[in-house]
Amino acid sequence: MQGNIMARPLLISSLIEHAALTHPNTEIVSRRCEGDIHKYTLLDASKRSKQLANALTRLGATSGDRIATLAWNNYRHFELYFGVSGMGAILHTINPRLFPEQLIYIINHAEDRWLFVDLTFVPLLEAIQDQIKHIEGFIILTDEEHMPETSLQNFMCYETLIQPEPDTFDWPELDENHAASLCYTSGTTGNPKGVLYSHRSTVIHAQAEIAKEALDIGSYSCMLPVVPMFHVNAWGTPYAAAMTGAKLVLPGPGMDGASLWELIDAEKPDLLLGVPTVWLMLLNHMDSIGQKLESVDNVVVGGSAAPLSMIQKFQEDHDAFLVHAWGMTEMSPLGTANAKTKLMDSMPLEERYQLQLKQGRPVFGVEMKIVDDNNQEMPRDGVAYGRLLVRGPWIINGYYKSDDQSSFINGWFDTGDVATIDPQNYLQIVDRSKDVIKSGGEWISSIDLENAAVGHPELVECCVIGVAHEKWDERPILLAIKQEGSAVTEDEIKTFLTDKIAKWWMPDAVVFVDQLPHTATGKLLKTEVRKQYHDFLLK
Ligand code: ADP
Repeated sequence: MQGNIMARPLLISSLIEHAALTHPNTEIVSRRCEGDIHKYTLLDASKRSKQLANALTRLGATSGDRIATLAWNNYRHFELYFGVSGMGAILHTINPRLFPEQLIYIINHAEDRWLFVDLTFVPLLEAIQDQIKHIEGFIILTDEEHMPETSLQNFMCYETLIQPEPDTFDWPELDENHAASLCYTSGTTGNPKGVLYSHRSTVIHAQAEIAKEALDIGSYSCMLPVVPMFHVNAWGTPYAAAMTGAKLVLPGPGMDGASLWELIDAEKPDLLLGVPTVWLMLLNHMDSIGQKLESVDNVVVGGSAAPLSMIQKFQEDHDAFLVHAWGMTEMSPLGTANAKTKLMDSMPLEERYQLQLKQGRPVFGVEMKIVDDNNQEMPRDGVAYGRLLVRGPWIINGYYKSDDQSSFINGWFDTGDVATIDPQNYLQIVDRSKDVIKSGGEWISSIDLENAAVGHPELVECCVIGVAHEKWDERPILLAIKQEGSAVTEDEIKTFLTDKIAKWWMPDAVVFVDQLPHTATGKLLKTEVRKQYHDFLLK
């Protein structure tokens, strides 16, 4: 027997409709590529996303068409989120930090028909336009006054495109499983893979993430997502803002410490979201000007492990709680969040910090387990570690236009991470399965070593990899970037590490380097580093 409940579809258009009716006056503040700060309301955003939907219809866009963006976090990108998906097309957000060959690959693979581009990225497209096959036109995200000289073929000005259109639009009543947006993983090996989200997955992911147990987003929030709108939909924050009426502060191209602080000082956000590298820059800037992040209550950190030194610094210098979160493109992205609990309030600070180092507990909807090499489940004792498998209503069941099912095991998705799960269901990522160091049959976590080393005040960035070793198969070495002017030595780093790690984890060598390679999402490109240093200990 079925329940007597309406089966109304969960649609992205309903989010912006709800926002316009319920939170019309909530502000969205953006730093623009044009250089100034722009402010308007959720009602304005809703009207302009309808103008955009009308313009797309006039251009001939139809349901299921892929429409791409190469843009920063700003209000026009926000309008594209709702206008494109709302009218039934698929928003393909492209990461501009991809290498040109990868850009060409994904634009062709997705068969994008139109591409909306911020001023910053016009030159990128000029260089590759001859190699992208399906694009019918480029729409430059600016007004006539700021239009650049360009060699792009078939370009239009965004403001001119939407300006004549009515600000009413009958959003189609789509099937909630209709595709809504597309994001490619940056991929450290092979070609990027496409993850195709649905309206349903997007809406319920937003509903799950706004919970107090997760990221705690409400009409009372003012949030600054530094995580880009071209990377897993800025962790769903644009949808969460429309759902709750939270104020959005969008940093545009200004991701450096000084620009972020300028925006924080002016708009007083209480919730910041981004990857650790961004916060390192902001924290360094705050040190250099001797100011405190007064307005900030919570900083959500994900994408890579948050080091202890960062958890401490936010708490002790800025009175801000670091919410460690874990997820991936394939998971929309949120999997777990380490939100503040009552228990934490009564914990000694040092103990609380240790707990905060874990990536948190699953948000409702996500199930997870760890398995051994035979896919047998391992105990949730916080000690045993194995491959992390997940399933849930916003986790992919296959890659876009791909038959490759190698990551899927009996209805579970293999995350490629190695982790422990404790009796309270707290997840701790040990490493990426391909980065974990296998020394004499035992595993060493490269992440733990990096986090311990980066706590040294004179090191800026650390990378630990396993390299070939005659006796132990693999041994860890540490590559580190020193702070400018620092004369710290290998021995001093090793002494610093002595009481922080197991004795046999001590890196066999510490190598000081000037730079380290990164992926398009800012993560260490360890495949490259491993290639370069493979024989380092064999010499
Ligand atoms: P990409 O796949 O493009 O590199 P993702 O954001 O999808 O980008 O990367 C997901 C991976 O990032 C996870 O599988 C995990 O290895 C790592 N990751 C994400 N958050 C954390 C975290 N809080 N701590 C440690 N690793 C993390």
